[in-house]
Amino acid sequence: MTHKRPIYLDYHATTPVDPRVFEAMRPYFTEHFGNAASVSHAFGWRAEAAVTAAREAVARLVGANPREIVFTSGATEADNLAVLGAARARQAPGAHVVTSAIEHRAVLDPCRRLEIEGFSVTYLMPDAHGLTSAAAVAGALTPETVLVSVMAANNEIGTLNPVGEIARVCKERGIVFHTDAVQALGKVPLDVHGMGLDLVSLSAHKLCGPKGVGALFVRAVNPRVRLAPLFFGGGHERGLRSGTLDVPGIVGFGAAADIARTEGQAESRRVAALRDRLWERLTGHAHGLSRNGHPSLCLPGNLNVTIAGAPADAVMSNARDLAVSSGSACTSASAKPSHVLLALGRTRAEAEASIRFGLGRFTTEEEVDRASDDIVRAVAKVRAERKAQGPNAP
Ligand SMILES: *Cc1c(COP(=O)(O)O)cnc(C)c1O
Repeated sequence: MTHKRPIYLDYHATTPVDPRVFEAMRPYFTEHFGNAASVSHAFGWRAEAAVTAAREAVARLVGANPREIVFTSGATEADNLAVLGAARARQAPGAHVVTSAIEHRAVLDPCRRLEIEGFSVTYLMPDAHGLTSAAAVAGALTPETVLVSVMAANNEIGTLNPVGEIARVCKERGIVFHTDAVQALGKVPLDVHGMGLDLVSLSAHKLCGPKGVGALFVRAVNPRVRLAPLFFGGGHERGLRSGTLDVPGIVGFGAAADIARTEGQAESRRVAALRDRLWERLTGHAHGLSRNGHPSLCLPGNLNVTIAGAPADAVMSNARDLAVSSGSACTSASAKPSHVLLALGRTRAEAEASIRFGLGRFTTEEEVDRASDDIVRAVAKVRAERKAQGPNAP
């Protein structure tokens, strides 16, 4: 038996670093190792120049001014800085925050923290496709609302929210609007000023860049958005994020942003076609499959499928060459069914019979075909075993 290379279809969890990104980063570990805050010598200037160029590249990808980009250790930190920072800067008795029930934990957990600090938080239930409309947000706003946070694209089901419309509703009432755009970045158009966004979380490693680096866009004009920082120290990043900058990581983020800006559109078309091919092959060879998420407003590389009568863990253990995620995707450490799928009205059993496929830059047609064959075979095997066990199978 020949050993086949495993097929990576988990691009929502992380992505491989593009070799061009890695080459751009390499000199900044060894040769150009300076501290970007060392203003008195050439080592520092070299590092600072590289950070400036990367800041411009990230800003260009989202239509921001470079001084509106605050580099962080990733999107978890960017989400925490946005949610905690914006709310705490507007602390008042009865202050209110609106978010959606299917946000990433990096938004939901800071919201829970805000409740402990005395804020009230509304968690909006999305519609059956996972969408949070501007009307739903408008209906939840009160005179006390200080912050709204709704993601641009969901990391489990790929649903795209109308963040430009939500931003308009917030702007009319002078409420700060944050969006976690980690999954949307480089996949769908994102123009922070054109769409009127105030705070936007970004991450490099979902964009074929390195792990451990991200950014928060913080609007500087119309209006200038104030934030309470989380870290105190050297006053880096305009005082919003103290700590020595990860120069190689930031250089990698910049390189990844440049590639996404020039190649993202064509890549999204290619990846969406592969995703559609995967879905057609799966439904062509197995029955009882249904898709989670929005039929058209969806990330190009996302396919989230509930497979009736086939628990995802059992399917996955019969398709060991595939790297995919089960319906407990983002909280798999705790093995709870996905809060996203439950919010869409899926039962616990359905959520546990769901698989998330994430396709991306290096996914090939051959991999998609092999993956669909493997899943179809695994599903048939799992269903046959469960049938043999009788009606009380788990
Ligand atoms: C991955 C992800 C995050 C966390 O980003 P890190 O850079 O890994 O901290 C936050 N939000 C969404 C939607 C994500 O997919």
